[in-house]
Amino acid sequence: MEQDYMETQGGKMEDKQPGEHRKRYMLDEEEIPRRWYNIQAEMPVKPMPPLNPATKEPLKAEDLYPIFAEELCRQELNQTDVWIDIPEEVRNLYKYYRSTPLVRAYGLEKALGTPAHIYFKNESVSPMGSHKLNSAIPQAYYCKREGVTNVTTETGAGQWGASLAYAAKMFGLEAAVYQVKISYEQKPYRKSIMQTFGAQVTPSPSMSTRAGKDILTANPNHQGSLGTAISEAVELARTTPNCKYTLGSVLSHVSLHQTVIGLEAEKQMEMAGEYPDMVIACFGGGSNFGGIAFPFMRHNFTGKKNTRFIAAEPTACPKLTSGEFRYDFGDEAGYTPLLPMYTLGHKFQPANIHAGGLRYHGAGVIVSQLLKDGWMEAVDIPQLESFKAGTLFARTEGIIPAPESCHAIAATIREALKCKETGEEKVILFNLSGHGLIDMASYDKYFAGDLV
Ligand SMILES: *Cc1c(COP(=O)(O)O)cnc(C)c1O
Repeated sequence: MEQDYMETQGGKMEDKQPGEHRKRYMLDEEEIPRRWYNIQAEMPVKPMPPLNPATKEPLKAEDLYPIFAEELCRQELNQTDVWIDIPEEVRNLYKYYRSTPLVRAYGLEKALGTPAHIYFKNESVSPMGSHKLNSAIPQAYYCKREGVTNVTTETGAGQWGASLAYAAKMFGLEAAVYQVKISYEQKPYRKSIMQTFGAQVTPSPSMSTRAGKDILTANPNHQGSLGTAISEAVELARTTPNCKYTLGSVLSHVSLHQTVIGLEAEKQMEMAGEYPDMVIACFGGGSNFGGIAFPFMRHNFTGKKNTRFIAAEPTACPKLTSGEFRYDFGDEAGYTPLLPMYTLGHKFQPANIHAGGLRYHGAGVIVSQLLKDGWMEAVDIPQLESFKAGTLFARTEGIIPAPESCHAIAATIREALKCKETGEEKVILFNLSGHGLIDMASYDKYFAGDLV
């Protein structure tokens, strides 16, 4: 479907003044959610348990205590409590940037000439420019509360590393971040941001860990992947006293924290007097997708609603659309528990696409089970289509989207153009997971015609 929507205009009423039909919905401070939504407790079919790779026994929360803060381990495996309280300290920090705006994207609708109503939830307004801070804050908080002094993690594009560095600083923790080597080189400003917040940043694979040394011995030119960086960070956490590992996606407790997005959006859609027919988000490990989708999906479980949920992944890393559902490791070296998930295999090395945050080989266990059971769908988006969509969005809505978020926009545009053909006035909600202001080198390549 090659339509040149960059040139399309009209089909809807004209603005008397620019922006006349654009609307932005915000919540008062008291309406910021006090609890996260734990979808695991309500899923018709619960995810299969993660397995201890040595014994093949289902994992218990205690098995994870050496690696993660204990409260996070309990949240990870909690399949009984539907609602989990957001600690007051965390909620107070959320208040600095939440609620995030829900915006009616009238400019985009008009450019497409679609009868669809398009809304987006703007997570790019967080201090770090993406949704990642929603989980970095509680993860740092629980570490602090449990007497941890050091945190470590991996980062791809650098969004998660920056968010963790900032959250760690707020709670007086030291942060050590392993950044995927290709991103460390392609996106130097993210490293500078992490360093500004006092984090120590190492390109991965590195010679500072056993895992890194093994990977480099086997392949001295390894460009790094989230898999290699996870192996190194987990090893550091295991071998350093009072140091815990944190993860910015994939795990169930991360998408739990991100449900603050969808819970706000639910109230904001109500203010707009609409309910989404489709909820769309880009997909790396599934946390921003789960964050916006799960609070709406609970109404599908009860049969009250029939919303479609669409995850948009890059064609270069198509674990949902072409992967296999099976037990696999979360990291390259095979240190993590075995997770039941859609995966391309833990040794998969994705092409160096610019949406660094979407270059992960697997999907979280919750979204994997939901996809398997037909509660959600997935589409893959080629890189050029994603930048084309992101550019149109920037020109019509005034926000430059992160390369990752461009995938959600492209999927939204596909659906909005289908509505144009059928004349259906569908309501589409997508998550703008972050802005692209530190990713302009990628846009430069797109404009120069250098992207494939
Ligand atoms: C990390 C990141 C993603 C992908 O991660 P998910 O866990 O799948 O949400 C998407 N968008 C942005 C801006 C990111 O930083």
